[in-house]
Amino acid sequence: MRRLTKEEKFMRRAIAAAKRGLAQGEVPIGAVVVYEGKVVASGYNRRAKLQLASAHAEMMAIDRACKKFRSWRLPEGCELYVTLEPCPMCMGAALNARVDKIYFGAYEQKGRSLTGELAAANLLNHTVEVTGGVLEEDCSGVLTGFFTAMRQRAKEEKERKKAEDAENEIEK
Ligand SMILES: [Zn+2]
Repeated sequence: MRRLTKEEKFMRRAIAAAKRGLAQGEVPIGAVVVYEGKVVASGYNRRAKLQLASAHAEMMAIDRACKKFRSWRLPEGCELYVTLEPCPMCMGAALNARVDKIYFGAYEQKGRSLTGELAAANLLNHTVEVTGGVLEEDCSGVLTGFFTAMRQRAKEEKERKKAEDAENEIEK
């Protein structure tokens, strides 16, 4: 087996974070912040648990990293790894925290990268480098696995309900 690149190694850590969310019934998206070759913070999507629109994996990881460094401005060289392409809110948070590089796994939309467009806008006069498609298949696999299981559960629930209704009908 070939050795994992540095990017793949850290993306694996983000996938592990996503799976922690999965175990709690969340849409599995994970993120880690890396500084000087070490993971300094991680987070996963907790939107369902917290019922907060802002409880995205990247926000969790960035907030934790800021707390760790006791600064809203992260030290130079911080990198963010996330399993799914960041949304504009998380891109904004990464820019505000002065993250230097973002690596994401799965693309949000085929053929268009809003993240790339936001990075190119040079908001806050801060340059952020964005690389998509790191362990893309693994990252999107975790997500599609979740949605397939969810659809399967919904289908089973519907069939169970139908059988129940049919039974009630016979009893009448
Ligand atoms: Zn987001």
